[in-house]
Amino acid sequence: MGFKHLAAQLEQRKHDGLLRERQLVESAQQVNLVVDGTDLLNFAANDYLGLAVNPSAQHACAQAINKYGVGAGASHLVTGHQLPHQDFEVAIAEFLQRDKALLFSTGYMANLGVLQALCRKGDLILADKLNHASLIDGARISEAESLRYLHCDIGSLQKRLSRSSQNTFVVTDSVFSMDGDIAPLTEISQLCRRYGATLIVDDAHGFGVLGESGRGSTEHFHLTQKDLPVLISTLGKALGGYGAVVSGEQVLIEYLVQTARSYIYTTAMPAPIAASNLANLEALIKQSDLRQKLHQNIAQFKKLCEQQQIELLPSETPIQPVLVKCNQRLMQVNTYLKQQGILVGAIRPPTVPKNTARLRITISATHTFEQINLLVENLKVALDNTIDASSEV
Ligand SMILES: *Cc1c(COP(=O)(O)O)cnc(C)c1O
Repeated sequence: MGFKHLAAQLEQRKHDGLLRERQLVESAQQVNLVVDGTDLLNFAANDYLGLAVNPSAQHACAQAINKYGVGAGASHLVTGHQLPHQDFEVAIAEFLQRDKALLFSTGYMANLGVLQALCRKGDLILADKLNHASLIDGARISEAESLRYLHCDIGSLQKRLSRSSQNTFVVTDSVFSMDGDIAPLTEISQLCRRYGATLIVDDAHGFGVLGESGRGSTEHFHLTQKDLPVLISTLGKALGGYGAVVSGEQVLIEYLVQTARSYIYTTAMPAPIAASNLANLEALIKQSDLRQKLHQNIAQFKKLCEQQQIELLPSETPIQPVLVKCNQRLMQVNTYLKQQGILVGAIRPPTVPKNTARLRITISATHTFEQINLLVENLKVALDNTIDASSEV
């Protein structure tokens, strides 16, 4: 056996400009990052409100470490379900205006658990074509039949719904993680009601960002628990922490506790992390100025790009992609920006479809207008001075 064939595949990836490499971050997760010994301005993280370094959450975490130690020691159903987990579940259910919430260790695990537990053999999952990988994987392990509909396309979804005689689930991101656009959840929830399908929404990038008070896509679209019965809100993005909650009716949550394998067969999140999530939830509720500043920064970025004629994908969220298409050119732009001290996301297939490689720029409340100016100026130069590999003859 051996790993020769793996080495060959790695070589191929390198040749195709698709080899991924980790960069070593030596500082806290904040606007000014130290990466591989270099200072970089961070336009690549999902910490949209700057809460990853919120002092009150750090303090809550330290206090919980003193009281509970570092490890939960067991799964939630054995001895791992501690007071900070319980307190957080109660607080976030209230904030989200849902009956109950269940804390998972990550969003990835929450999505796997929800789809595996709720969708059975013989059922049908209708999934947006650009759904997050964790929803795709969850659909796979569920053993339900799974079909995709065109991205955010109500007509395409309706066609599929009208043909289904199975027990049907509609599954979608609220804000698409690599595109930044928002699913038309009002129309989707109406269709679900009309066809008797169950709506499952992954609000990873909506929670903390969308809605008057940051509740996320349910608040943005004024959707009740009846309209949107299964909601997944992750805590590693705008909340600046770690984990995820599934929220909805009591019976849903109790059923997940009994059957969601990624909930049952894993060690509970460390209590200090749950405690810091709670402190960050309090900050999110109290500091609405953070969300205002975030949206001002997004507007500023979009305005400057328009002035510089830099084309952006349509997005009102902190995720602001610039489609570059060609992998090699993407890496050239990325390298140039890095040389200028700016870090953005460089997203290539298979994370996104072929020929849609893109810069994934993320805006945070903690950026200054000067920093956003600097980004756009350098972006303009980088785009003007690179071309598609396919157009070089
Ligand atoms: C990040 C993300 C997840 C996974 O959440 P983690 O808590 O990081 O595991 C799930 N869905 C979407 C849309 C995401 O962007």
